[in-house]
Amino acid sequence: MTQEAITRNFLDTPSFWRDYPERDIEFVRWYPCDVKPLSADQIYATREKFPKTTSFYVHIPFCNQVCTSCPYNKFSTRNTLTQRYIQALKREIDLYSQLPHVRDTVFTSGYFGGGTPTTLRAEELDDLLGYMKQRLNFSPDCSVTIESTPVDVDQQKLDVLLKHGVNRMSLGVQTFHDPLLRYLGRARAHTGESATRTIELIDRSGLENLCIDYMIGIPGQTPELWAQDIRTLMDLPVTSFSVYNYAVMPGSEVFFALQSGATPPCPSTREADEMYQYLHTTLMDAGYLALTYNDFIEPMRPEWEAAGVKTYPVVKDGSKPYRGLETDTFYLTDHLSQIWGRCGDMVAIGSGAYGYLNNHMYLNEPDIESYISRCNEGRLPVVMGAYTDEHEQRCRSLVLGLKLLRVKRSVYRERHGVDPYEYFKDKVDDLVAKGLLEVDADAIQVTYPKGWYYIDNISKSFYSDANYRLPQPTSASTEILKWQIDRTDGRKGLPLVQF
Ligand code: SF4
Repeated sequence: MTQEAITRNFLDTPSFWRDYPERDIEFVRWYPCDVKPLSADQIYATREKFPKTTSFYVHIPFCNQVCTSCPYNKFSTRNTLTQRYIQALKREIDLYSQLPHVRDTVFTSGYFGGGTPTTLRAEELDDLLGYMKQRLNFSPDCSVTIESTPVDVDQQKLDVLLKHGVNRMSLGVQTFHDPLLRYLGRARAHTGESATRTIELIDRSGLENLCIDYMIGIPGQTPELWAQDIRTLMDLPVTSFSVYNYAVMPGSEVFFALQSGATPPCPSTREADEMYQYLHTTLMDAGYLALTYNDFIEPMRPEWEAAGVKTYPVVKDGSKPYRGLETDTFYLTDHLSQIWGRCGDMVAIGSGAYGYLNNHMYLNEPDIESYISRCNEGRLPVVMGAYTDEHEQRCRSLVLGLKLLRVKRSVYRERHGVDPYEYFKDKVDDLVAKGLLEVDADAIQVTYPKGWYYIDNISKSFYSDANYRLPQPTSASTEILKWQIDRTDGRKGLPLVQF
């Protein structure tokens, strides 16, 4: 089968949109979806917004061991390409540092994703981070996250990261069970034991917030193995953790291994649901605080409380003591607040990176050689995106804001000049009638457990007509993104989900 045929089959599956009472399983993280070819000149022709604060996302598309199931924009680490890429990143940073839309703002958070950013050598990380801090304005308590794997971080790199103010690491452990790591194609990268050693090393380094990434849906995973993984995690010095659904990419090694029976099947939908329920009740019974339905942080510390960090009741009738964290009251969760809670600006740096500036959501060139060429020519590498008018901005604030489980009505009114309940009354009333949302004078809140289970259905209820039934821009693999960009008619030209 050709890549394009695989791509078409993938997009033609009915996985991108499901209506209640069916559960939508596409993870909503970006809005709008109706992206078209777009240039930096179009984004910056006007100056609609003067944001005081912003965040950044830097994409480092290199991995020392490329996992067989991975859909992201990444390449096996190669010294010459890495060097040329870092130079291109610096050119792009220079261009942004001169842009009025960015020059006068303060960065309160940032995220280095990939790929695996810590595949860069300590000297390269030192060079890149130092360069960014020279050219962009970082706030003193800027929350900066970097992604890593258990085998790509050592003491020298940790020293560099701490020196430049990186205070959060997202470590892709996925599971501590070695056979499951083998089925994922990760066994060449790490084992449960090496992951434990790395977590202990990071803890000793003094990094403030270590987040472990887990996966649900791995071939061979059972509710019993999952329960063991949760217990392991709770015994380790880990501040927060995130859970992702494992998706088998068409055409990947895992896809063919599953088809041939060479690996055990993935857990059933019922088993995966049980794993989520176990995760939620086990963690929140132990006092962990919910950030989203799949992100948690350890129980409130006295120093956080003294610094003004706030929580809210997850179950409003008080029948459970579960609490959620108000992410905008805590600098370590500022990035989540910025991109979902406040729907604020984010400068996208790097090949295939997504950002939001001057009321435009945009995507950088995903082809790494084209990206390098464009930066070297002194051109910002924006290739696709969408403008958001006031109505789309109001939609966006609920599509993404409710992913944090709660939208404060006063904050929304301040941002958009209208009350979210009054503006979307019919939609909100419908979701309240279905038992998915609750509304009071302070907030629109997702119900637990039912609303959590349907979180992406809820989020998609606030898509505008122009975005209705369109897949997420980030649902697609790199190949799909490149294929989209080759098309002159933009996103509208994609085969939409068939029913
Ligand atoms: S899953 Fe992570 S470590 Fe593996 S290839 Fe993809 S980006 Fe790299």
